[in-house]
Amino acid sequence: MMLQHPLISTARLLIDDAVLEVVMGNRQLKSTDAESGGILLGLRRDDHLHVTGLTTPYPDDKRSRTSFQRKDKGHQARALAGWLNSGGVVDYIGEWHSHPERHPSPSPIDSREWNSICLFQRKPMVFLIAGTLAQLWLGVGHNRDIRQALPLLA
Ligand SMILES: [Zn+2]
Repeated sequence: MMLQHPLISTARLLIDDAVLEVVMGNRQLKSTDAESGGILLGLRRDDHLHVTGLTTPYPDDKRSRTSFQRKDKGHQARALAGWLNSGGVVDYIGEWHSHPERHPSPSPIDSREWNSICLFQRKPMVFLIAGTLAQLWLGVGHNRDIRQALPLLA
């Protein structure tokens, strides 16, 4: 999936199909499903962002119907392994989680958490929320600016 980078007009946001398939498989389709989530892994080339991998929930994450707290050390370990295996090319590039709603959008808690991640990372980060339908919310944050990314018109 190719989108327009919402903060840099000449840049693109590319999400590999394999990543989207895993996200789709972790949607909250049943009324009892807890939120899923993890980190996004990928690479930066010039201003372009390319998401190539992700983590899914580990046992020590805190999950409920309407919240996902990434607590397990497995996410960070996977990011480090990916970084080492790629010779420093693939890195932590963002966060994703599911929402139990059809048309997902960031909650105030999401915005607050993403802002602090952006301030800490000091480089553009990708944020993804999967709703219960095939609809995703995708955005890019940098410093205090987080904006939704929209698909490129063919
Ligand atoms: Zn959320």
